[in-house]
Amino acid sequence: MNPIRTRIAPSPTGDPHVGTAYIALFNRCFAHQAGGQFILRIEDTDQVRSTAKSEQDILNALRWLGLHWDEGPGCEGECGPYRQSERTAIYQTHIQTLLASGEAFRCFCSAERLDSLRQQQMEAKQSVGYDGHCLHLSAAEVDARLANGEEHVIRMRVPVEGDCEFDDLLRGKVTISWSQIDMQVLIKSDGNPTYHFANVVDDHLMRITHVIRGEEWINSTPKHILLYRYFGWTPPIFCHMPLLRNPDKSKLSKRKNPTSVGYYQAMGYLPEALLNYLGMMGWTMPTGQEKFTQEEMVANFDLSRVSLGGPIFDIEKLDWLNGKYIREDLSDEQFIARYADWAFDRQKLLKIVPLVKQRVERLTDVADLGSFFLNGLPQLVATSFEHKQLDTETQLKILQFALWQLEQLPHWDRDSVEQCLQGLAAALQIKIRDLLFPLFIAITGKAVSASVIESIAILGIDISRARLRHAIAVLGGISKKQAKTLEREYRELG
Ligand code: GLU
Repeated sequence: MNPIRTRIAPSPTGDPHVGTAYIALFNRCFAHQAGGQFILRIEDTDQVRSTAKSEQDILNALRWLGLHWDEGPGCEGECGPYRQSERTAIYQTHIQTLLASGEAFRCFCSAERLDSLRQQQMEAKQSVGYDGHCLHLSAAEVDARLANGEEHVIRMRVPVEGDCEFDDLLRGKVTISWSQIDMQVLIKSDGNPTYHFANVVDDHLMRITHVIRGEEWINSTPKHILLYRYFGWTPPIFCHMPLLRNPDKSKLSKRKNPTSVGYYQAMGYLPEALLNYLGMMGWTMPTGQEKFTQEEMVANFDLSRVSLGGPIFDIEKLDWLNGKYIREDLSDEQFIARYADWAFDRQKLLKIVPLVKQRVERLTDVADLGSFFLNGLPQLVATSFEHKQLDTETQLKILQFALWQLEQLPHWDRDSVEQCLQGLAAALQIKIRDLLFPLFIAITGKAVSASVIESIAILGIDISRARLRHAIAVLGGISKKQAKTLEREYRELG
């Protein structure tokens, strides 16, 4: 029997998500319990949205949690390279096979044609998808258009009738009608593969035996199975894990809950506690114990114990578990070491010190001035926001607009934060001093403190977002109706 090989295949297009860590953990436990390998592959085919920083953050987050990979970037094995942007030639060769067999075809349809097709299908209440227009082009016509240098994509053929059936390790038989499956683009007009194509080629070449991933991919699985069939390859076993949910059962989202592993690291959670908590997402130890290490999870792992009801990612429960780890597992000496590592991170301190140093006269002044860098959410009450010019409604607007603006920042540094807030002040026709007031209270918790712009830049978006949202809540919150009005006004600001 082939050795079990699983993988996590994140796209480096954002913050390292706790959902990625959760899926990585289950993949790692499954593979390691069977003596197999856990592989990390970076799916950076979206060249516009992928960034080196995001990739680095994802690698760091997985390492911090102890989710080390047996093969992947920085740990090359025989199936590398493990970054899709370095595998272009492999996809080029493989698409030729499907073009030659006629299972993939070139499509020259313009964006306008596809738009109007979609429009017509929607109006006629039909399912939306490619209509096969270019499927019937003659070889001569294709050659002529290629010689002419016409822009095109490469799509896959999809059966028009019948169903795709596959066995999901957790869900049993899944049946999806082919009529619901679009003739997926495999190669984009810039020559790069899409997720679907690169993912299948790589899972095969990397000898992945089990694809354990989030349930949002179930509807893509027929396309993948079809590609395996076209290539004549044996598909892996699929297993779609339930998605993490907010306490209100909606899909876990950063609008409601911090989702970045970086947030939990910055908030002083212990990696082993966060990892343990992720292990409790839809899974239980046979003994029922709630506190367990990754090694214990590996030793006792059994995928069939995963329950499909959406697991709730509840920060209060995580707090409880983290506290238990701190009290039960750390000696005083270990606690000092852990706290010092977390709080006195040199790189972070080197940014904080210039802000604090210029405002102190004695070392005893430091803690008071700089404590907000080490604290979680500041202790606030509504009266903390009293201000001569700004009423509560305006302050809520400033806080919400600042949050939306900051979330859009492509680069996170002092100058970008400053420009962003200056721009907002100008758009709202509010003096920058006044605009910064509620942000100051929200971020530093005090009316007098270090520069709020620098502080936001140092604290980063995750912590800043949490504090801005906390301030909004302290000021009475924003109702759904108010949010709609604010959104409209925000859009009109441009
Ligand atoms: N790149 C995909 C993602 O970002 C991988 C999905 C899969 O595991 O197939 O989630």
